[in-house]
Amino acid sequence: MRIAVFAGDGIGPEVTSEAVRVLQALDLPGLELVEGDVGGAAYRKHGHPLPAETLDIARSAEAVLFGAVGDFDLDHLERHLRPEQAVLGLRKELGLFANLRPARVFKGLEDLTSLRPEVAQTIDLLIVRELNGDVYFGEKGMRTLEDGRRQGWDMMSYAEDEVRRIAHAGFKAAMTRGKKLCSVDKANVLETSQLWRDVMIEVAAEYPEVELSHMYVDNAAMQLVKNPGAFDVVVTGNLFGDILSDQASMCVGSIGLLASASLAEGTFGLYEPIHGSAPDIAGKGIANPMATILSAAMMLRHSFGMEAEAVRIEDAVAATLAAGIKGGDLGGSAGTKEIGDAVLARL
Ligand code: ATP
Ligand code: MG
Repeated sequence: MRIAVFAGDGIGPEVTSEAVRVLQALDLPGLELVEGDVGGAAYRKHGHPLPAETLDIARSAEAVLFGAVGDFDLDHLERHLRPEQAVLGLRKELGLFANLRPARVFKGLEDLTSLRPEVAQTIDLLIVRELNGDVYFGEKGMRTLEDGRRQGWDMMSYAEDEVRRIAHAGFKAAMTRGKKLCSVDKANVLETSQLWRDVMIEVAAEYPEVELSHMYVDNAAMQLVKNPGAFDVVVTGNLFGDILSDQASMCVGSIGLLASASLAEGTFGLYEPIHGSAPDIAGKGIANPMATILSAAMMLRHSFGMEAEAVRIEDAVAATLAAGIKGGDLGGSAGTKEIGDAVLARL
């Protein structure tokens, strides 16, 4: 198994190296880790945030473990040379179209969320968001009308095949979990949503074990805070997913725990914590590596089909938190290495 490791900027290298230690401790068959430069670090070395050699490494691998990119000192650069462009470039070049974000509240952390503890403790869900279509990528424009008013527009559109592949990603993810899929749309007013719903129902026939339900996005936003325990996997479009996944994150409490996956067709995926390069704490050895460690678990599950190993990592993280070993983002005092050691000890 060949894994590309792109640590990037800021706390990226610190948190990534703890996740790498965890992968190495699992005795995975034929594990091969190949490092590549991305972001500001790559710009400084190669003059580009996503050099051709980095893309080649990604393409030669079965999955990418990604740290973070971002560098204030490079903000003056032209847009295409800024560190953040590496993520967009990888998404495009690798055909990553499905973004998966789990949200779960670990034991002992219920008080840190913005919900009542008894509600928070029920959260264990996964949001599957389409990444390449929707209103962000439709025809858009701005014009001045005859009477001088400005008008802007963005066209929301989805083609059947685009919905079909995200539907499969949603159903496949549901098969690895509680086998419940809630498709979120706004089919009472949007044509794209009507198509979305039709395709979801069509694809559901291929996954008879998964229970499919539908919910309007406004209701989904309410239910996420009212009764989040009712959700298992949520599948939705780019715009609704953007909003709902951030909302779900905050139901969990801390940015240092949130993992994500961006999947291509087949088994290839890029896995990264949802936090950024956190320049304010970079180099201090205090960043929480758990989000990256949990991203590595997602990698084993979705790119390598290693469910048991993924659960082993997740259980080790849960046990570490339950033992009261917490990073500064959770009100604790454990450093990056210390957290990595604690997780390793519980593997
Ligand atoms: P970027 O521009 O790269 O997204 P940012 O300034 O938006 O960076 P984030 O990395 O998203 O910052 O982090 C926001 C806040 O959360 C910062 O104060 C940061 O220190 C904190 N933070 C982020 N990740 C972690 C982590 N793994 N452990 C502890 N604190 C974190
Ligand atoms: Mg940020």
